[in-house]
Amino acid sequence: MNVTRFFKTALLSVVCGVCVSSLVCSQEVNAPNEIERMKAKYGVDASIADLTPTVCAVAGIRAPKTATANQIEKVVDGAKTSFDGRPAQKVLIYCGDCIGDVLLQKYPEDFEGCLKESDAVVLSTNVMQTVTPVCFATIFSGAGPEVHGIKVYEKPVVKVETLFDVFLEAGKKTAIVSQKGNSVITIFRERNIDYLDFPTDEEAYEKTLQILKENDYDLIVVHDCEYDSVMHKVGTEAEKAAEARRTVLKRWLNVVDATDEAWKDFDRLVVFAPDHGSHMPENSSKGVHGMDVRDDAVVNHFYRWRARESK
Ligand SMILES: [Zn+2]
Repeated sequence: MNVTRFFKTALLSVVCGVCVSSLVCSQEVNAPNEIERMKAKYGVDASIADLTPTVCAVAGIRAPKTATANQIEKVVDGAKTSFDGRPAQKVLIYCGDCIGDVLLQKYPEDFEGCLKESDAVVLSTNVMQTVTPVCFATIFSGAGPEVHGIKVYEKPVVKVETLFDVFLEAGKKTAIVSQKGNSVITIFRERNIDYLDFPTDEEAYEKTLQILKENDYDLIVVHDCEYDSVMHKVGTEAEKAAEARRTVLKRWLNVVDATDEAWKDFDRLVVFAPDHGSHMPENSSKGVHGMDVRDDAVVNHFYRWRARESK
């Protein structure tokens, strides 16, 4: 099927899971926008777009003008209570590419550490097309593709106001750390951000630990595509994919430890924020995503907050 045509059609209606390929369905429901369509279709209360208003509220910063998503109250209230009403001073968002809810359901043992370290786990839908630039534009603008403009796999600079812009306005020093050319470090260019790019995900992770030690930034966003890259080559069930999955989750836990050390005197919020999941097409040995199916569309955002030690 022509994906663009499907997206345009799907935008206007909720299509039940069994008839995605035919577009002929008796269970269509009107939805005001793509975010609400996906939430209704998958029966999930939250959207990946909720991250931006949520993080802004915890940090005491206004949400971007175009953000239409909801803040997650259990995160905002939990952090506020923990911080005795103060805003978070430091924020780190670890973008674990392609770590869908399907992986948590299939391999819960790999997520034990992440679940233990998280204060809130928010089941969230993404938006069509379920590919990386569309999803991260949604995550960091707090609005759907109709608003930020990225609807297919392409990497233009996002022009609407984003989480980065309101953090910069609030005087927060910001870094994006990533393998060179990947989505997050590309589509949020043209801002007063330190763009730290590297030949590999591993080096980007190492750099993250280093800049935490130096404690120079207020907002750090890391994009780790290790699992996504491997699963596209070998499929989701291969041992190499399992290793990559565990590597990304372990890196997040190590980064959490590093924030506890470097930011112990700061009220802080650390989020593990995947963009999409993936699935195996029939008769294929390679993993894919981009479709309007549950394994691509539903992820978890893991929130963790800690109050500063010195009051
Ligand atoms: Zn991918």
